[in-house]
Amino acid sequence: MNEKQRKELNNQIKQVNPADVKSDQDNLERLKQKTSEDFVKYFQTTYEPPNINKARKRKREEVKYFNDFEIPEELQGFGNGKKFLMRTYGCQMNEHDSEVMSGIFTELGYEATLDQEEADVILLNTCAIRENAENKVFGELGHLKALKREKPGLIIGVCGCMSQEESVVNKILAKHQHVDLIFGTHNIHRLPHLLKEAMFGKEMVVEVWSKEGDIIENLPKSRQGKTKAWVNIMYGCDKFCTYCIVPMTRGIERSRRPDDIIQEVRHLAAQGYKEVTLLGQNVNAYGKDLEDIEYGLGDLMDEIRKIDIPRVRFTTSHPRDFDDRLIEVLAKGGNLMPYIHLPVQSGSTEVLKKMNRKYTREEYLELVRKIKKAIPHAALTTDIIVGFPNETDEQFEETMTLYEEVGFESAYTFIYSPREGTPAAKKKDDVPMDVKKKRLHRLNELVNQSSNDALKKYEGRVVEVLVEGESKNNPEVLAGYTPENKLVNFRAPKSAIGQIVKVKVVKAKTWTLDGEMVEEAVEVK
Ligand code: SAM
Ligand code: SF4
Repeated sequence: MNEKQRKELNNQIKQVNPADVKSDQDNLERLKQKTSEDFVKYFQTTYEPPNINKARKRKREEVKYFNDFEIPEELQGFGNGKKFLMRTYGCQMNEHDSEVMSGIFTELGYEATLDQEEADVILLNTCAIRENAENKVFGELGHLKALKREKPGLIIGVCGCMSQEESVVNKILAKHQHVDLIFGTHNIHRLPHLLKEAMFGKEMVVEVWSKEGDIIENLPKSRQGKTKAWVNIMYGCDKFCTYCIVPMTRGIERSRRPDDIIQEVRHLAAQGYKEVTLLGQNVNAYGKDLEDIEYGLGDLMDEIRKIDIPRVRFTTSHPRDFDDRLIEVLAKGGNLMPYIHLPVQSGSTEVLKKMNRKYTREEYLELVRKIKKAIPHAALTTDIIVGFPNETDEQFEETMTLYEEVGFESAYTFIYSPREGTPAAKKKDDVPMDVKKKRLHRLNELVNQSSNDALKKYEGRVVEVLVEGESKNNPEVLAGYTPENKLVNFRAPKSAIGQIVKVKVVKAKTWTLDGEMVEEAVEVK
């Protein structure tokens, strides 16, 4: 969608006439009358189902950058006296999108709530990466049905990656007609208009763009904390791993301009944030689409490390684009944290090929060798999928040996989940589920053991911890992370929250460290 189309869409909205505001009784009637045929005609104009062949052929249209987001005059104060509840599923990208949508709600005058009983709008920001993520959302929609019956004026919305899938939209249309609003990942900035349509329109509002939108720089953000902040550096993914739905739900890779990112990080530093995490589905591809400059993630990190903010992280890396320039910059240390999450997915070259990861086992190991040589104290973690279609015992064993060879300190492990519209989902699979589960169990035992071994090395050492808040299980205990991203629990005065303090590690558990604070408020160079 280009600027002209975006403006046209915005202008389609009529002025609000208070007389149009429907009563709860009207809403009830509207619900009873809805049939899915009513909606089909609507979403066919804006919706195209995921299609890998089309997605692969997509052309890089010029990405346009805008700074013109504003709440239209007729919607100012639209949310005054009302409350919204946002539920977020999935990755950091979704977390950050929710911060943006919360910012828009706040600008409209809404107040945030965690209590669904008092919410006027409930928005589910969904994840499509695995089937169980989707099942959770459908379960939640089921629960919300009763609430909608009690409060017909409540607006229930579904957004995020699941909304980009045709099968999901169809299922909502068929089985969850109490949903008022569905929109996707490319039109978050349209939230004010969509809310208004959902509130005053006669039909379920479905607006999903199959083409990625422009980059709008000045969207408001209600950040979750005052210590750590997410900063998007790019959107979308062009890697087309054969199991993955992301290139279809998030669109083509689009990088933000370096100046805009640097300005955002500077602003966060000035506001007192202690840590930023640069975000993208594949951050190492940052800058490849910027046609007027030769500029990559290494160059960006080299500039950001000069900003006076104590900690800088980035996620997620793809091994294929992890270049020497980035390694050279990360080796400079300072505020660039010695922690690299480098998803490998499998230790078998044959499986990697079927996954379309575009690197071999040996190439991955070579990259790890280079990283370790340049940054010997870096902690490496990874993502692994077990039970990819037709994965043999031998191929799984290669994953186990690779894990040990690299010496990963932790991993997110998943059983392969077929995703409709992806090439892998079309493959016949001869690996029974109980075999996949056994493999996952074995892998997890290795992951747990390696995590504990890695943490044991910290016993007796003094580490710098960025204190995030009280521990979930005990408000007397504070919790925070080391530069290597290890979670540390320790007793300290609440004044330490938001500070970087020195903590002596007394005990290593499987996933966390216990410690004692030795010095408050470390001077950060
Ligand atoms: N862009 C990152 C990368 O290339 O590794 C990861 C993005 S994805 C949100 C996070 C992880 O989910 C992936 O690394 C992969 O391990 C896992 N994943 C993605 N699709 C999956 C599927 N169909 N089944 C199981 N796990 C999947
Ligand atoms: Fe999905 Fe990551 Fe592969 Fe992109 S690089 S297709 S997000 S797993």
